[in-house]
Amino acid sequence: MTAAAALNPDVFTVTEPEAPLTMLNPDFPFSYDEYLAHPGGLGSVPPELHGTQIAVIGAGLSGLVAAYELMKLGLRPVVYEADQIGGRLRTARFPSSPGVTADLGGMRFPASGRAFYHYIDLLGLETREFPNPLAPATSSTVIELAGTKHYAETPADLPPFFREVAEAWRAAVDDGARFSEMQAALRARDVARIKAIWNELLPTMDEQTFYGFISSSDAFRKAGFAHREAFGQVGFGTGGWDTDFPNSILEILRVVYTDADDHHRLIVGGAQRLPEALWHHAPSSMAHWPQGTSLASLHDGSPRGAVARIGRAAYGNLVVRERWGRETAFPAVVTTCQSWLLSTRIDTEETLFAPELWTAIEKSHYMQSSKTFVMVDRPFWKDRDPETGREALSMTLTDRLNRAVYLLDDGPDRPAVILLSYTWNDDALKWLALDADERTRLMLHSLKQIYPDVDIAAHIIGRPITVSWEADPNFMGAFKANLPGHYRYQQRLFTHFKQDQLPEDQRGIFLAGDDVSFTAGWAEGAVTTGLNAVWGVMKHLGGSSAPGNRGPGDLLDELGPISLD
Ligand SMILES: Cc1cc2nc3c(=O)[nH]c(=O)nc-3n(C[C@H](O)[C@H](O)[C@H](O)COP(=O)(O)OP(=O)(O)OC[C@H]3O[C@@H](n4cnc5c(N)ncnc54)[C@H](O)[C@@H]3O)c2cc1C
Repeated sequence: MTAAAALNPDVFTVTEPEAPLTMLNPDFPFSYDEYLAHPGGLGSVPPELHGTQIAVIGAGLSGLVAAYELMKLGLRPVVYEADQIGGRLRTARFPSSPGVTADLGGMRFPASGRAFYHYIDLLGLETREFPNPLAPATSSTVIELAGTKHYAETPADLPPFFREVAEAWRAAVDDGARFSEMQAALRARDVARIKAIWNELLPTMDEQTFYGFISSSDAFRKAGFAHREAFGQVGFGTGGWDTDFPNSILEILRVVYTDADDHHRLIVGGAQRLPEALWHHAPSSMAHWPQGTSLASLHDGSPRGAVARIGRAAYGNLVVRERWGRETAFPAVVTTCQSWLLSTRIDTEETLFAPELWTAIEKSHYMQSSKTFVMVDRPFWKDRDPETGREALSMTLTDRLNRAVYLLDDGPDRPAVILLSYTWNDDALKWLALDADERTRLMLHSLKQIYPDVDIAAHIIGRPITVSWEADPNFMGAFKANLPGHYRYQQRLFTHFKQDQLPEDQRGIFLAGDDVSFTAGWAEGAVTTGLNAVWGVMKHLGGSSAPGNRGPGDLLDELGPISLD
């Protein structure tokens, strides 16, 4: 999703080291990282059920985390995938130089996403700092607004105006959303405090847009429109936060409280390496299966195909039908595709969910998102102008078509990549009807206005790579972002994995995937909802959590999202 602390006031000051922040979601501050690290594991199912097949729909990160952990419990996950292993962790390769990659979906992962990094560490994947605006890994940043260009190698190089914008934002979240207090509680993992603050804020914040929140804050009212506009253009994020202005302020608070917008790392070799590695990894210990068993080996190498129907079969089982007709019955099914697909692309039997849950599914609001990459001969942007001493081209935030330009390289004198444009919502829709070459032409034209003396096109090798996630029938959008008044829907979706109160005919199907989490658009939400579904399946089969390691469902009533009704 969004990112970077471009205008985080902290970048202007030196602060004492503090306890790290985790993506401990205030709606449900359950420590998934500690749950995963527990030596007793996640739990067990009755041994006579070992080898039982469980359907997992979607081989994105959520589906693979769920399948991997179900396999460790001794169950036999059967993964279905309509397209590629990895889902929205998709890495494209430039054909003439396959080592040069472009992350079309998730590309930068906050250090606070500790459940996500559990799997990164487990799989031994190398990461390094992502070159966000004004981040230490970014040698220079250009902010260009209304035709005025600011060049900065450190935040201190920016005019005082930007500091004022950052301070207005910090004051707005401190006054209106108890930001510092919440971060202190998150650092201390003080769940009682986190819940107390959040539950008090929730009912009023659920009614507000992000824009309404900042425009009604004292700090931004005093500062004036120009500050608000600059905040929207640059924000603390890349591509500008103004495309998020219509969304619920709750969505933004969850991100900034937990530091999800900062301290980002990329996966060396591409983000898709994570789901691919999970698919091939043989856990060091697991119930039932012989040493060396992996998801790949259980599937003879490939997941099953696209799912066309989910229904109720005889004896309470669920039946999954593939697009080409094969039907298989399962005692439990985990769905991880974007929730809209359950009514648009999969014929899901209506009685499997309560009407209110269907409403929550249909009300999901997805952001559009587009990215366009080109490969270039070398990181020529590091060449310095002999007169000014400035780099030829910088990580760029602009109010022109491109919105955000990222520069990615693997060292000098090697092919490198320019992400010419990363956009959301209206800015992404501007690209939807255009092909890759036309997109690139327009992007280069915009950049020419910012860098008149730089011939970017002369460095491009081969064809551009572009994506519009909303145009892909297996996704239909980039990631979910709740609108004001949507909290109730999110609460229903998130808590559905605990099914003891559900009627018998609605049990056994578990929703997962980042759009079911409270932090859609972040891979951490994909991991954690996958783990919720594993807990749900385990309980559904009569199993239980490991002694001393209470799982998400065991703590949901105590720590879970409150009901506003
Ligand atoms: C443009 C963009 C930028 C992002 N940036 C970041 C970022 O920087 N940091 C971050 O942490 N996160 C980011 N994200 C979010 C991150 O990519 C997601 O949170 C994560 O990949 C979601 O995983 P998932 O398994 O929940 O869903 P998905 O990856 O969507 O997996 C669902 C799978 O279901 C499959 N499927 C669909 N229909 C069917 C069917 N009928 N039968 C079988 N399979 C089906 C799909 O093909 C897909 O593989 C970004 C996402 C996008 C789109």
